[in-house]
Amino acid sequence: MKAAYFYGIGDIRVEEVPVPDIAPDELLIQIKASAICGTDLRIYKGGHFKIPEGSKRVLGHEVAGIVAKCGEAVSGYPLGMRVSLPPNVGCRTCPMCLKGLNNMCPDYEAFGISYDGGFQEYMRVPAEAIRQGNVIPIPDSMSFEEAAVTEPLSCTYHSYRTLQTKPGDTVLIIGAGPIGACHVMINKLAGATKIIVADISDERLSEIKNYGADLTINSGKHDLKDFVLKQTSGIGADIVITACSVPSLQTLALEVAAPLGRVNFFGGMPSGKEMVTLNTNLIHYKELTVLGTTGSSLDDFNESLSIAASGKINIGDLVTARFPIESANEAFAHAVSGKGMKTVFTF
Ligand SMILES: [Zn+2]
Ligand SMILES: [Zn+2]
Repeated sequence: MKAAYFYGIGDIRVEEVPVPDIAPDELLIQIKASAICGTDLRIYKGGHFKIPEGSKRVLGHEVAGIVAKCGEAVSGYPLGMRVSLPPNVGCRTCPMCLKGLNNMCPDYEAFGISYDGGFQEYMRVPAEAIRQGNVIPIPDSMSFEEAAVTEPLSCTYHSYRTLQTKPGDTVLIIGAGPIGACHVMINKLAGATKIIVADISDERLSEIKNYGADLTINSGKHDLKDFVLKQTSGIGADIVITACSVPSLQTLALEVAAPLGRVNFFGGMPSGKEMVTLNTNLIHYKELTVLGTTGSSLDDFNESLSIAASGKINIGDLVTARFPIESANEAFAHAVSGKGMKTVFTF
């Protein structure tokens, strides 16, 4: 079979390797679709501490496929079953895992980081991932592609659950990438009255209108604060989501939030840039709620699958480029270029 291995920064090699062996308590998944995520691009450009130099790893954690082989000690996963696999495998015993928050587990493992992921034809599913519930059936009405790109939707659904967007809310989303598009779709569905998206790429801003953004602004060319205040009768946005990793935009988020507004620091900061100066008086006097969210739980993932399967969100529209696994380098180059939204390998 073919597998795209990450060997080091900027170094991906497609190799012919044997189909992985599985133990009696494991599964083998034949991958049908796997999407390139911002996390894959960060690893591609900067490496990852869990992938030490001298080792190789198949990246890819947004995956869907069918059960191709089932170990004799495993039951409940018939051959041919269509499944998707949320990436984070919790330890199952820590306080966060016991609350069902596998995304908060301090010892989680992940497909495409600690286990070989979806950028290959067949993927081994370790016993702990099966036990922890990371093999999830795909609703019949969903394609493999749609199931693969439900992972980013689930992270924005997790954000929505903490922000509780409601009809009447003006939502400002800073960042018009695929995650920004998912935020737009989920907030639209939740009833947001006006959705404003800011970015520094005109191309991305014109694209994000297709996903339901009401207004867009190039914050590299125009003053974002002025624009938001003008669009909200001087009040500010009820909800502000920073779907980017720029420290100054966290500072700005507090300035453009309306009194009683909710702010979600969705994007983490690169290491070395996490100390950000914030005007805490804005939190105090405007009575803001400032929230962090990270990843998604299995429950968020399941809920997102059923939302996407309902057709109320056209999650498949996120897929704007398809490549065969043989063209892994072209696919990564395309994704790095920032063209379109999701780049997906189809098999
Ligand atoms: Zn992802
Ligand atoms: Zn845990």
